Amino acid sequence: MRALKATYYDGKTSKRQEVQIYFDNPRQLRVSGLAHELSFSLSEVRIAPRVGNTPRSIYLPGGAKCETTDNDAVDRILEHRRSGGWHAFVHKLESRLGYVLLALVITVASVWGFIQYGIPAIAKQVAYSLPPAVDTALGKGSLSALDQAFLSPSELSEQKQKELRAAFAAMTRDLADEHSFRLEFRKGGAVGANALALPSGIVVMTDELVALGKHRNELVAVLAHEIGHVTHRHALRRLLQDSATVLLIVAITGDAMSITSLSATVPTLLIETKYSRDFEREADRFALGYLKENNINPRHFADILSRLEQSRPGESDIPDFLSSHPATKERIKAFQSAS
Ligand SMILES: [Zn+2]
Repeated sequence: MRALKATYYDGKTSKRQEVQIYFDNPRQLRVSGLAHELSFSLSEVRIAPRVGNTPRSIYLPGGAKCETTDNDAVDRILEHRRSGGWHAFVHKLESRLGYVLLALVITVASVWGFIQYGIPAIAKQVAYSLPPAVDTALGKGSLSALDQAFLSPSELSEQKQKELRAAFAAMTRDLADEHSFRLEFRKGGAVGANALALPSGIVVMTDELVALGKHRNELVAVLAHEIGHVTHRHALRRLLQDSATVLLIVAITGDAMSITSLSATVPTLLIETKYSRDFEREADRFALGYLKENNINPRHFADILSRLEQSRPGESDIPDFLSSHPATKERIKAFQSAS
């Protein structure tokens, strides 16, 4: 780099000396033309901002300064220093495995955090901003699909059905929710004692679950849990979350096929589990709130849940009311301690 002509002031006397300044590398400044050559790290040097074409001061450590009229050259050096600094920084990062690993860990952690918390939060916002008609469309055909696959017509007495439908209607009537709620009964068969909520607002309860209820309020508690799934838009949120998660994973790995491979399935499964666990907890909280507001002892929920767990032959294909996660014992305890 060519020399920059400048006037040197030692900061102690008024003596002026003509000198040459060299920027040999982006981090070093050398002053030549004095009795002894001076050399400074650029980081110790302060360069005054440009004011038109007036002479520019370069302040050196120890009180000395150089003044130059070659403003353009100083600007180039400043520019160089900035980019040099950045390049040096990146180079430093790249040349150290520790930093690389740290960056990798930070990246993975932030993606994981975004999948765990960011996506569900965004999906919730989006779901709540969409009209219930979207849920109705989403749930269209679900009941007939369930009927074909698992369920058969209910054998409950008209009287019992009427009674529970009246209770359900009373529960949903005053809700600030525009879903068209409806209670349906089916014989569960292989599904056994269970209840599930379709996104449209249809709640299905199996004959087996009704038979398991020893107290009317136990069934009310189950219904409250299912209504919680509907009002909190769980089906829609689940759909949004799953799609966004898949999109994000494809975007990061850049490989749509990897979604189907085992390496991608394992984290997806873990996420799945957390997502559904969160929804069960939310539905439970809704149920607990309803029971308390209506002076119903939360114990009823715990009672039917524990009876259900004991009666259960195995995992159901439709894991709704008695979902394996969160741990049923933990759920039972939550309602017991609230009673
Ligand atoms: Zn549930």
